[in-house]
Amino acid sequence: MRSGKILNPRGVCSPGGFALYLKVVKNENGETWCQSHLADRQLHQLLEKVDADLAEEACQEGCLYCEGKLHRADYDRKPRGGPQWERRYSFCCAQEDCRRRRTPESVRFLGRRVYAGLVVVLITAMIHGLKPSRVRRIREALQIDSRTLKRWRQWWLDNFVRSSFWKAARARFMPLVCEQRLPLSLWLSFALEERDRLLAVLEFLKPITTPAAWKELAM
Ligand SMILES: [Zn+2]
Repeated sequence: MRSGKILNPRGVCSPGGFALYLKVVKNENGETWCQSHLADRQLHQLLEKVDADLAEEACQEGCLYCEGKLHRADYDRKPRGGPQWERRYSFCCAQEDCRRRRTPESVRFLGRRVYAGLVVVLITAMIHGLKPSRVRRIREALQIDSRTLKRWRQWWLDNFVRSSFWKAARARFMPLVCEQRLPLSLWLSFALEERDRLLAVLEFLKPITTPAAWKELAM
């Protein structure tokens, strides 16, 4: 098991003021959400480790087209409202007549979005069933404008539900995941302690995080 069982109670502030809002929120299912996930350094380190492992595996496999060796060619990222993850692992084929990119799956980045996948998943799941005033407070604390948040919610109900990834993956869930209540329903279908659950959801979503897969899902 990659992660510990203990929820990190440290509500310490991380750079960027993201951790300033650390209240526990209860959603319509009565589930409590500790927003300290977003400031949980242990969790961030865990996700970094998972991504590093995914990158290592991809590197070992080599180029998907010619089996050439891969060289590091990371993408710069400046994700907002979350951990300051500035590099997305990526590689380039070393063969001169190929040079194609290979970008491994990730539990940190969803496509090219400016917010980390962690933020998108947590926030959109967390705000289900909350009063608009409460949603607004969370939004303001995390500096996410209302249009962005609307777009995220719509993305789950629309792009995500229609994606070939979800059409193939949804059969794995029994009982079925209610698509109108995504991503909360997806979140609840992983019956794990919170931090493990977050990791499980992000790992479940990782096939859609590569640039090739993301094309179909981009907003
Ligand atoms: Zn190649």
